[in-house]
Amino acid sequence: PAKGEVLLSLRGVSKRFGGLVAVEDVSLDVRQGTITALIGPNGSGKTTLFNLITGGLPADSGEIRLDGRRIDGLRPWRRCHLGLGRSYQVTRLFPDLTIQENVVAPLADSRWRTMLSDAVHGHEAERARELLDLVGLGRFAAQPAGALSYGQQKLVELAQVLMLEPRLILLDEPAGGVNPGLLGRITEVIRELNAAGVTFLVVEHNIPLVLDLCDPVAVLAGGRVIAEGTPERIREDPAVLEAYLGA
Ligand code: ADP
Repeated sequence: PAKGEVLLSLRGVSKRFGGLVAVEDVSLDVRQGTITALIGPNGSGKTTLFNLITGGLPADSGEIRLDGRRIDGLRPWRRCHLGLGRSYQVTRLFPDLTIQENVVAPLADSRWRTMLSDAVHGHEAERARELLDLVGLGRFAAQPAGALSYGQQKLVELAQVLMLEPRLILLDEPAGGVNPGLLGRITEVIRELNAAGVTFLVVEHNIPLVLDLCDPVAVLAGGRVIAEGTPERIREDPAVLEAYLGA
């Protein structure tokens, strides 16, 4: 879609766990070219909603579309092939493989006949190297991933996600546990990628960072979207303040 058009749309999406409604009748649009944020207090349903979008969990009701195409009901890897990329809150790199091998690994995984060792010598290795340069880790490409700091591993993960050339990247807490020095680098990379046309949906607890990086911002509370808009609007929304202060 063109910039500003709807890339991902959720309509009336709900998810229950027994008697608990974790996500209730959520309708939300993520537009092409945006860095859209999803915030909300603990237990408000952010992680569940991410899992409904990626297919880790089935929705009880509602529709999820990527570029107009229905994706709820598809398996996670199908959604991934349609251009839905995600990073994980907990890093899942292979510590003994090199950083470059790690970036190629998801590709070998998704085409299971391709041996990792083959993949890493082809043009895919070059692409991995380019992506590592992009996130500022090119000089570490041949080192084992286990030698990196937590924040650096998150940057490697971002390169991993990019390897699959996603149209939309779901980021789960990109700033979580990252030291302040690397935080600036991570937000810079997200901004650069966004300028190059990548759309993001970001779950993040660091509210000042969200208000600085993201637009628009959607706020969940009790499984429902209680506010949506520019960071300026969200900052002053009484319902948002109430949700965060628990009033
Ligand atoms: P957030 O990510 O905003 O902290 P979650 O999506 O993790 O919120 O959780 C939303 C609600 O759903 C919470 O009340 C949580 O306890 C509940 N929940 C999440 N996952 C499960 C599960 N697998 N089984 C039962 N309850 C769950």
